[in-house]
Amino acid sequence: MKMNEKEVLKKLLKGEIKLYEVDKYLSADKATKVRRKFIEEVTGTKLEHVSKYTIDMENALRKNIENSIGAVQIPLGVAGPLKINGEYAKGEFYVPLATSEGALVASINRGCSAITESGGAKTRIIGDKMTRAPVIKTKSVVEAVKLKKWIEDNFDRLKAAAESTTRHGKLIKIDPILIVGNYVFPRFVFTTGDSMGMNMVTIATEEALKILENETNAHVVSLSGNVCTDKKPAAINLIEGRGKSVVAEVTVPRDIVKNKLKTTPKSIVEVNMAKNFVGSAIAGSMGFNAHYANMIGALFLATGQDEAQIVEGSLGITVAEENEDGDLYFSVTLPDVPLATVGGGTGLETAQECLSIMGVKGSNKVQKFAEIMAGVVLAGELSLMAALGAGHLARAHKELGRG
Ligand code: NAP
Repeated sequence: MKMNEKEVLKKLLKGEIKLYEVDKYLSADKATKVRRKFIEEVTGTKLEHVSKYTIDMENALRKNIENSIGAVQIPLGVAGPLKINGEYAKGEFYVPLATSEGALVASINRGCSAITESGGAKTRIIGDKMTRAPVIKTKSVVEAVKLKKWIEDNFDRLKAAAESTTRHGKLIKIDPILIVGNYVFPRFVFTTGDSMGMNMVTIATEEALKILENETNAHVVSLSGNVCTDKKPAAINLIEGRGKSVVAEVTVPRDIVKNKLKTTPKSIVEVNMAKNFVGSAIAGSMGFNAHYANMIGALFLATGQDEAQIVEGSLGITVAEENEDGDLYFSVTLPDVPLATVGGGTGLETAQECLSIMGVKGSNKVQKFAEIMAGVVLAGELSLMAALGAGHLARAHKELGRG
């Protein structure tokens, strides 16, 4: 049935069609407008600003959003140049950061400057995987142990089934296989090319489980059993790694710590011990760091990553030491950063532009992006730790965060 915008809106207001059914009758932009008008009418809210966007809503409606009514805007800043001496990222980079936290970009920028003046950050990827761990119920612990053995014995067949669903996803292991009572949690571990891989590994794991369900008496309770662990802070991710596991380090000469960061290596080391180790330990925190989530969040929003996984990027450990020459050794270790240059939200036009700024748009770029990301976290962490060491934190936020 053909309807124009007015007719569809009328039907929506009468409750004759649902919000998601609007797409059946109108093009993406018109459907977006009609849903927005409906929300304006029923909530009495003028939606002037969310109506302004340039992204291709038709494309977004296919892959990224349902019931669209517009787009939100987050201010975008840039930090850099940041010199990286990585295995994949080599050179100086400008980094796009989307945030509404005043002082954040300025602080990261100061960290970039200190790192670049010190000769750059060294970065290495120490792990690269995406995981899905279903929960499977058996009749008893005796059966659970048998099922674990069955999974180990049939790995090659499960792998072939999983990999039949994707060109880029490769099942590298099923490990650990945890048992709790009569439940079994096999953690399927994949490499996923340049994509973050969550859809990819979910589809692949489901295919592998068909064999298991056909050939055993076990019952797959849920395709995700939380041992994955997706979008939650979890010790298994901290220890085993998930997404990209990356380390970035720098040695900052004492003079640069003094002149640029306005403090001393000793103060930064002291703050790191007292705050990031002792404070985090007593709080039961899994983030032995000052604020990785700030840099991960701003980079994720700018580049179309899955924002719920910022919580995973918040895990990690900062090390600060004063070396024999009195210079500062400083490193960040990020065990769990799900990252993509292909798929998910990375295809949105604004994300594509932001990925391009760093030269990491498209295939064969995700490792380079991971190393730049670690360098940015290093910069932001170094700057904040220096501000705390110098007692400047409140002053910077008062000046830059309150206008
Ligand atoms: P995706 O966009 O669903 O899949 C990536 C696609 O890109 C695949 O079709 C893949 O083809 C293709 N591709 C082309 N070139 C590639 C390359 N160089 N490397 C890797 N893949 C390439 O994205 P995804 O990364 O699997 O999943 C990310 C999305 O999952 C996000 O939108 C996120 O919000 C969402 N998500 C899903 C779940 C879930 O449980 N399903 C959970 C959390 C988040 P092939 O498959 O043929 O290789």
